[in-house]
Amino acid sequence: MPDDPFLSLVNEALPRLQGQFATLPLTGANPEGLDAMQAVLADVAVRMGDNYPYFHPLYAGQMMKPPHPIARAAYAMGMWLNPNNHSLDGGRASSRFEVEAVAEIASMFGWTGHLGHLTGGGTVANLEALWVAGKLRPGKRVVASAQAHYTHSRISAVLGLEFSAVGVDGRGRMDAEALEHQLRSQEIGTVVVTLGTTGIGAVDPLDQILKLREKYDFRIHVDAAYGGYFKLLTGLPAGGLSGGATRAFDCIGEADSIVVDPHKHGLQPYGCGCVLFHDPGVGHFYKHDSPYTYFSSAELHLGEITLECSRPGAAAVALWATQRLLPLAAGGEFAESLGRCRQAALQLYDRLRSDTRFVVAFEPELDILVWGVKAASVEEASRRAQSIFDEAARRDLHLALVQLPLNLFPSDSWPDASPGGTMTCLRSVLMKPEHLDWVDRIWGILSEAAKDALV
Ligand SMILES: *Cc1c(COP(=O)(O)O)cnc(C)c1O
Repeated sequence: MPDDPFLSLVNEALPRLQGQFATLPLTGANPEGLDAMQAVLADVAVRMGDNYPYFHPLYAGQMMKPPHPIARAAYAMGMWLNPNNHSLDGGRASSRFEVEAVAEIASMFGWTGHLGHLTGGGTVANLEALWVAGKLRPGKRVVASAQAHYTHSRISAVLGLEFSAVGVDGRGRMDAEALEHQLRSQEIGTVVVTLGTTGIGAVDPLDQILKLREKYDFRIHVDAAYGGYFKLLTGLPAGGLSGGATRAFDCIGEADSIVVDPHKHGLQPYGCGCVLFHDPGVGHFYKHDSPYTYFSSAELHLGEITLECSRPGAAAVALWATQRLLPLAAGGEFAESLGRCRQAALQLYDRLRSDTRFVVAFEPELDILVWGVKAASVEEASRRAQSIFDEAARRDLHLALVQLPLNLFPSDSWPDASPGGTMTCLRSVLMKPEHLDWVDRIWGILSEAAKDALV
């Protein structure tokens, strides 16, 4: 196997960083016990083999995307110092990287005077957004679509806020009429609008929900943890997004807060979410007076606007470096690679829907595909999905399974389908740009696997 290019990148750049500390007196601390470490690492290498090959295009199951080599290299360099972005003392350079990288994400959504920071992931980012929402709309309910991430109901429980789900349309998007019905009958403080649901990639109709905001007073929090970067594809004539998704992403800047996960589609290692608030004034909710926080300058310090205290400065270093190399620009290289993911999903969709063994409910909105299996009953269809999943895995093609409501499919898809029921379906997240070159191979294996599973 060839050397990993990111290791040589780090080896070349690290002396430049180390050289800046060369005037310090030597500590004499040469690393000892290298042999013992080598042995431990050999064990680690063996045990880490017990994983699915997430980096490979034949892994087309869950929402997993390998970090870009620049992100891995920059993260590793950041780790040489291990800065802590809780305070400027803990990470002066990496705090600046964070402020700049977050501003670039905000400007992708059309924001300039925002407040925002990185978090451990989408969960904490959403928690902060709903925490602020709860402060501004005390005692009022949070709602999200029935296809929204389960984290919203759990976070609401943590924050002591009432939560309820809003029904979805035939494509799994929040039903604006169902939302209005709830707005009329309940005190709703915050509507969580998901632009790209985790399960099926549905894009809620933000444009319609904004119209309702003119009539009813509520906050809009956009959960774009997975889908946020697709904003960059809205202007494309071909290979862009559908009309509905384009309309939703086009008005994302009208939201009160936005969450996006650089560790999902932003090519970052895990541990990198981002929360943004349109009104920087909400920063006062974070205010604290900790005797432990050290103030080394009058500059803004990220520890004052985050709920998490210690945070990895290396994550900010990696994100900044990635955005420097691949700016978040429509028509740029990053956007182009995102477009390839979507193209891959559309191509596999075409194969699936022209094959009578499968039932595909709708065209993918982003790069997630879900499909059911034809059978004489719902129960049999669920069993078949499981067998195809197993047969594909035996052939090194890794898909995912998802439990879906039957009303996402045409009502005559299975003889005993009842609108309230659910079934096991197959799911594939085609979020690596290389997937586009692998659609034929993926389809070939899937088709073979289905042949063997359905005998
Ligand atoms: C992934 C995801 C989350 C949770 O984020 P983590 O980074 O896994 O903590 C929340 N909402 C949506 C829409 C997601 O896709």
